[in-house]
Amino acid sequence: TQVPRSKLRIGLIPADGIGREVIPAARTAIEALGSDIPKPEFTNLLAGFELFTRGGVALPEETVEALRESDCALFGSVSSPSKKVTGYSSPIVALRKILDLYANIRPVVSVADAPGEKSSVDLIVVRENTECLYVKQENLEFTENGKEARATRLITERASHRIGRMAFELALNRPRKHVTIIHKSNVLSVTDGLFRETVRAVPSTANGRYDGVTIAEQLVDSAVYRLFREPHIYDVMVAPNLYGDIISDAAAALVGSLGLVPSVNAGDNFVMGEPVHGSAPDIAGQGIANPIASIRSAALMLRHLGYHQPADRIDKAVDEVLREGQLLTPDLGGKSSTQEVTDAIVKRI
Ligand code: ATP
Ligand code: MG
Repeated sequence: TQVPRSKLRIGLIPADGIGREVIPAARTAIEALGSDIPKPEFTNLLAGFELFTRGGVALPEETVEALRESDCALFGSVSSPSKKVTGYSSPIVALRKILDLYANIRPVVSVADAPGEKSSVDLIVVRENTECLYVKQENLEFTENGKEARATRLITERASHRIGRMAFELALNRPRKHVTIIHKSNVLSVTDGLFRETVRAVPSTANGRYDGVTIAEQLVDSAVYRLFREPHIYDVMVAPNLYGDIISDAAAALVGSLGLVPSVNAGDNFVMGEPVHGSAPDIAGQGIANPIASIRSAALMLRHLGYHQPADRIDKAVDEVLREGQLLTPDLGGKSSTQEVTDAIVKRI
């Protein structure tokens, strides 16, 4: 729900790679809304792997402090080193923890007749954002049989319950009101068993609030298979952290490009928009990154704050540009630049 505000304080953290090209695009889209939202006040903030390589700090304390003073934020992307770098840990993973952004909400929606559209999809992946294998407790031992590596996977009732509640809340506002729980409890009966049971039990703790929501469940492997064969069966998919990551990248393939898919990291007190894609080192610095995932992330962030009509204006402008198919970045088969696509969207907003 919308809190009355005289201004909207938005932290901008472009971070690495194409994040620096697409976050400014999202900013101009928000600015184009004019008086439809409280006056936006942007603060540019530092974080990222490149920052770390220059000064040894990936997430400066000032950035965290500034975010605590903000109403919301937009995060670009961080490049992930392929090998473990001593002293480095991902700032986005840290921010999710520090700000308790326990849900990663990723709508994947196809635009009918848009280039790259492969099938009719309208689903939301609700990914648990704080635990699972992302607690990153890994260790390596040297045994008489050679190296042995272990990772700890944490699933708690508390985190499973609140991500389940978030999924049911989102389902309430959708026409189909259908939640699919993704797990692998045939193999991981203790951890995934707890996730599945806890999410299933959410309606029983909600005084009939979710009576209109139907529940299904699916093993993650068959969920990916069916996602590709019959994506229309899904509405809200709720999953532990790692499965949620994989499922949403896979779903992104169905709508043509990772460059189209937005997300928000949401907690009870803060929301941070973030494109699903990474830093795309292969195209960074060329001015050709698709800005749509970030622009849609801005809309999703506004929606989460209760600004539905301004969010609709952004989404409609994006859909129009996609449907017209004249100004598209190379990932969608076009020849336009980030700037040209952004300008076209801003003009329609
Ligand atoms: P990272 O480690 O930061 O995730 P990555 O190499 O996995 O980097 P991604 O950003 O995840 O790269 O992108 C995967 C592929 O999708 C790359 O080929 C990239 O160029 C492409 N891609 C991702 N985002 C966009 C975008 N916004 N516009 C165009 N292409 C994109
Ligand atoms: Mg990636």
